[in-house]
Amino acid sequence: MAYFKGQKRRLSFMEKYMTGLRPVDCPVCGSGKSTVLGARSRGGLSINSVLCANCSLVYLNPKPLPEKYHEFYASGDYRRFLNIVKGAKTGDDINNFFTEKKFIDRKEYGAQIARKYFSNILVKDDLYFDFGCDSGGIMAGVRDETGCRIMGNEPSRLCADFIRERLGVRILCCGMEGMCDSDKEIYKGKAKAASLIGVLEHVNDPIACLNIAYGVLSDGGFLYVESLDILKRMERNKESVEDAATIDHQYYFHEDVYKYMLRSCNFEVKRFDYDEKGKIMRVLAQKVGPESPKNRFEAAEIVDRISRLNSEAARYQAGIFRRAGKKAAQAARKVLKWKSPS
Ligand SMILES: [Zn+2]
Repeated sequence: MAYFKGQKRRLSFMEKYMTGLRPVDCPVCGSGKSTVLGARSRGGLSINSVLCANCSLVYLNPKPLPEKYHEFYASGDYRRFLNIVKGAKTGDDINNFFTEKKFIDRKEYGAQIARKYFSNILVKDDLYFDFGCDSGGIMAGVRDETGCRIMGNEPSRLCADFIRERLGVRILCCGMEGMCDSDKEIYKGKAKAASLIGVLEHVNDPIACLNIAYGVLSDGGFLYVESLDILKRMERNKESVEDAATIDHQYYFHEDVYKYMLRSCNFEVKRFDYDEKGKIMRVLAQKVGPESPKNRFEAAEIVDRISRLNSEAARYQAGIFRRAGKKAAQAARKVLKWKSPS
C-alpha cells in the first residue's frame, strides 16, 4: 500500500521504538515456526509480520521490547502515531481525543454492549472491570445501563485524570501487564463481568492478559472481548498484511485463533458476532474450570488461506499501481505535448 514521504517524515519520532527489535516465538502457542507475510507496516515502518505455522496467529516478529511499548503508550506517542497514520497533518492534537462527542459516542456504545451482552448478567452493585478502559466512555455507558460499579486500568495518565474528574472513579493507571500483585489480589474473583475491547492486540502477552482477566472474574463470570478479524479485513478490502499492519498492533487475530486462545485460557465462548461492517469480532465468553474439555485445533487450512489471501492482495495492489503509473505517464506526455512549441 502506498504511504507518503511526508507521512514517513512525520513519523520520525517512531524511530526510537524501532531499535533493538527482539525475535519472539508465537505468544499464543509457543511455536517458533512461522512464515514472513510482510516486511513493513502502515506508515512505512520496517517491521516483519509473520504467520504462525502451528496456530495461525499473525504477529510482529522481531518486535520492539516490552518497555518500549510501555513508553509508547504512556508518553502519548501512541495517540500521535494514530493521528498521523489516520491522515492528520500533525500528531500533536492529542487533546482532541477528550472531546465531549467522542466520550458520548463511546458511552452510547458501552450502553449498547450492556444491553446486548450483559443483560441478565450485570445488576446493581455488581462489579464490571474494563481492562484498557481508555477515556472511560464504555464503562460510563455500562454503569448507566445496569447500575453496576465500575473499575478499569489504563496506562495513560491523561485518561486516568479524565476518568477521575468525569466519572469520580480512580482507575488503576497502568498497563494490564503492569498491574501489581496487590491490585490483582484486591480484585481477585470480584468482577461479575469484564471486558477487553481492542486491547489484546496491543499487549505484550495476550495469554497472560486473559489469565489476569480470569483471575479478576468471579466463578462463572463473563468476559466480553473485541478485536479486528484480520482475515475479514483482508478479504473485504483486498489488502495484504502489509496494508493492514500497524506497529501498535503486535498481533492480528481471526475467529479460529481467537476461539482457540479463549478456550486454552478456560473461557467458554457463549456468543460470537461481528460488527455491522463484518470485521470486528464481538465475543462473550464465560469463565469455566480448568478441567472442562478443550477442542482439538487444526490450523493448517487457515494458515494456507491467510497465505493465499496475502499473495492475492499483493498482486492486486501491484496491478493498481501499474495502472496508476501508466495513467500518470500518459497525463505527463499530454502536458509535455501541449507545452512544447509546435
Ligand atoms: Zn502459534
